[in-house]
Amino acid sequence: MYADVIIDISHEKLDRVFQYRIPESLSTELEIGMQVVVPFGMGNKLQTGYVIDFSETTDYDPAKIKEIKRISTQAVPIESQLIQLSAWMRKNFGATMNQALKTVIPVKKKEQLQQKRTVVLAINDAIEAKNVLVELQRKHQTARARVLEALIEEGSIAYEILTKKLHVTAAVLRAMSEQGILRIESEDQLRNPVAHLQKKEYDIVLNENQQQIVDAIDSDFQKGKRDVYLIQGVTGSGKTEVYMELIARALEQGKQAIVLIPEIALTFQTVMRFHNRFGDRVSILHSRLSQGERYDQFLRAQNGELDVMIGPRSALFTPFPNLGYIIIDEEHEGSYKSETLPRYHARETAIERARLAGASVVLGSATPSVESTYFAEQGRMKRFYLTQRANARPLPVCEVIDLRAELRTGNKSMLSRRLQEAIADRLEKKQQIMLFLNRRGMAGFVSCRSCGEVIKCPHCDVSLSLHGNGMLKCHYCGYETRAVSTCPSCGSPYIGGFKAGTQKIEEIVAKQFPMAKILRMDYDTTRSKDSYEQILSAFANEEADILIGTQMIVKGHDFPGVTLVGILAADLSLGVSDYRAAERTFQLLTQAAGRAGRGRLPGEVIIQTYQPDHFAIQTAKNQDYEAFYAQEIAYRKLMCYPPVWNLLLLAITSPKEEEAISASIAVAGWFQEQRPGLRVIGPSDAILAKKNDIYRRAVYLKTEKYQDLVEAKEAFERYIHEHPLQEKQVSIYYDFNPMNGF
Ligand code: ADP
Ligand code: ZN
Ligand code: ZN
Repeated sequence: MYADVIIDISHEKLDRVFQYRIPESLSTELEIGMQVVVPFGMGNKLQTGYVIDFSETTDYDPAKIKEIKRISTQAVPIESQLIQLSAWMRKNFGATMNQALKTVIPVKKKEQLQQKRTVVLAINDAIEAKNVLVELQRKHQTARARVLEALIEEGSIAYEILTKKLHVTAAVLRAMSEQGILRIESEDQLRNPVAHLQKKEYDIVLNENQQQIVDAIDSDFQKGKRDVYLIQGVTGSGKTEVYMELIARALEQGKQAIVLIPEIALTFQTVMRFHNRFGDRVSILHSRLSQGERYDQFLRAQNGELDVMIGPRSALFTPFPNLGYIIIDEEHEGSYKSETLPRYHARETAIERARLAGASVVLGSATPSVESTYFAEQGRMKRFYLTQRANARPLPVCEVIDLRAELRTGNKSMLSRRLQEAIADRLEKKQQIMLFLNRRGMAGFVSCRSCGEVIKCPHCDVSLSLHGNGMLKCHYCGYETRAVSTCPSCGSPYIGGFKAGTQKIEEIVAKQFPMAKILRMDYDTTRSKDSYEQILSAFANEEADILIGTQMIVKGHDFPGVTLVGILAADLSLGVSDYRAAERTFQLLTQAAGRAGRGRLPGEVIIQTYQPDHFAIQTAKNQDYEAFYAQEIAYRKLMCYPPVWNLLLLAITSPKEEEAISASIAVAGWFQEQRPGLRVIGPSDAILAKKNDIYRRAVYLKTEKYQDLVEAKEAFERYIHEHPLQEKQVSIYYDFNPMNGF
């Protein structure tokens, strides 16, 4: 048996793996993630390293392979835990060990750290310092005298203060340093992305319901019991306050906490609340930080400078040495599933990290994922409810409008009469309105009204969408072309398009309500750095009457002035060919409805739809999670879908169509033959059959036990390793319980 060892993760590249022989004496003890002592390099100098994998065979001459000396007796470092986590992720989600390590371990980029420089008086004797000062004054070296005088007073002064406030040049300081009068000391300064925030008084007292939940979870925690908890609480019920109180109590025991929130909700308001409570012990990670800034946050966490890290799913890997809690807010969110290898789910991975670290996991949502509720019912997590809004505001009143009936009575507008009236009413009363467009399936495609031809991207199997500037764009690969005036297929001039959804609606609303101030938030208006925050702040400050947007406007900010939420086409997400379509629709509608009536005035929600009787829409209208869940889980059971069963997607891609097809047939055949216990579905074209000139085919495996899928994947990988596919340009990746259509 051999062990793959990486020598030092902070300096070496992660892909430099060295094989060592495992001595008989260690063969039962050694585990992935353990720190070992090995002879390294020409001189066989003893070095510490980490075991990242085991193998039966070696590609090198076995006689030349060195042997592991011993298991390191140092305290288990945080790196060991994270390496064990990578190994678990590789196995359970499918990837190479290298991909898994790179996801979990922050690799240091060679980047200049910011330096904090301080000037220190180097003359210890007070009388001598005075004498030097007199000497300088005598020689009329006024700048030097000024510096020395200040240093005698203060002892040490920040470099920038001397150069900027006392107007001393760098040359003068250097000369004084050479004279031995002062010393310039410098230390690395880690960047702090929340340094600019002002801390405010924190004065919230938990209500009875919140307090009960805190007490229950905290009493487990104090007893040393670790578990997974689910807090199901309607929007605005005060879940965030519960998380903060739990964290505060864990901090008293010297523990740290990771708080995951969807990237889209990582706004100023959320960060502010944590900062008010925990001050500079909080930091954040988000996609706009540079590599260096991200790395600094990990270092600060490891050094003990921080107690709380807030961020999207990658914050899960913050190297806190003494983790107490992992909180996952809005746990139902699709962004918790990684879209790159390994395609891990943050919820499952958090539970594993917590197990390794001895921490507890707290999940929170107004609309928990079907998975979490199912697991709670099975007793795999403990569930709590927050049923009232914290500030006693009533939940909004919801009304469903049948768009088919609107059409029958001659209204072809995207706004029903009822919604138009409601908008006019709020504008009159100077109250705010949000119009939400379910973007899925709503790309503004261009089609020919004579022959039906749809203009598609030549590289991806999707329709192009028409933008305001008259360009047709592909949202997958960025391909752009001028809009056509005649049909490329039949030559007809009757070719036209619907503009990208939100833009079209903005035009309609602006035309009908010319006095209204409108803000629009979508893919196009939020591409520059701070535009997202700017639009939300402007709306929060009531600088506009109407905010029109996609999924993006549903979360994050609190808008107390909003009393009307219009959902323009609720069922668009139902049309997506995905077993999660109803769940996603229910969640979106409930979240969107939750934006109304957060302030003093009561809220109203108008849901427009072509399928008014669909259970996802009816249950969302009634804000009835239990009724939704009952129907949905019955469907999942009947169809053997997750979470009742488990699903593994084998995604097979190739630039050559024939290769993709024949390889997918071979792969499906292997599983049918070798694993007859699994249900094999396909092969078939992916929903997106071609993307960026790559052909995409899918094989699905379905079975009750997740571990059976893991085992089948591992067996297939071993087989493929020894019998490489004939189709040379094919690549295959795995996606367990995929969240997004392939
Ligand atoms: P959730 O996370 O469930 O959406 P929040 O924690 O954001 O809810 O709470 C919604 C609003 O109610 C926030 O403005 C919050 O400050 C306030 N709030 C929460 N709990 C209390 C409380 N016990 N007393 C007063 N205000 C509260
Ligand atoms: Zn045509
Ligand atoms: Zn394309």
